[in-house]
Amino acid sequence: MPTTQQRARALKILDGLAERFPEAKIELDFRAHDPWQLLVAVVLSAQSTDAGVNKVTPALFAALPDVRAFAAATPQQVEGYIKSLGLFRNKAKSLVGAAQAIVAKHGGEVPRARALLEELPGVGAKSAAVIVANAFGEPAIAVDTHVGRVSRRMGLTTNDDPSKVEADLTALLPRERLLEAHHSLIWHGRRICHARKPRCEECPIERWCHKVGVEPPATRARPLKRPARPARRETAPRR
Ligand code: SF4
Repeated sequence: MPTTQQRARALKILDGLAERFPEAKIELDFRAHDPWQLLVAVVLSAQSTDAGVNKVTPALFAALPDVRAFAAATPQQVEGYIKSLGLFRNKAKSLVGAAQAIVAKHGGEVPRARALLEELPGVGAKSAAVIVANAFGEPAIAVDTHVGRVSRRMGLTTNDDPSKVEADLTALLPRERLLEAHHSLIWHGRRICHARKPRCEECPIERWCHKVGVEPPATRARPLKRPARPARRETAPRR
């Protein structure tokens, strides 16, 4: 269990990020209060950027507006709309399979339980956490590459395994702020705490961060000393 001091530091970090990113939210587009469209966007976002997903979903959702339309479609139909994304064939197959399972087993409603979501094709633990937190307001924090990286740097966890990172963050942070923490950590990782060059000099929570594994900025390299000029050779006077 974390100590009171560890919890207090984690709260300072959360408050600092909330002040810096008050508008932090999920960056995938989907119809409000539509867990199916959120699920589709989340499945499509695996190894693709949110911006890339947002480019293809308007036409996809116009053609296939709900879970029953996806269940009746063929993977090839879905592929036609998502070809610009990586792994598009697998994703199309997963989405049609997930829609068919939701219609067959859950009466056409996206299940609210993480374990049931994880049974759907294309939906892993991280995606299930994103869906239950964003669509159903459940206290969950999905650990993606940004959340894991910045949490380790800040010293909020020492774990690499996403499920262990999630457990550490859940123990440190108030349950009602887990979704907010998820969004702020992602926004922070995308905008300031970059993987290769974290911009610590403009970081709002620098004083609370342990900077685990972060190289101090390189000290200015000293100019190399010029090699001494070779002494002029005396030449014999011409005769
Ligand atoms: S101080 Fe640096 S390493 Fe720590 S969270 Fe901020 S940007 Fe990342």
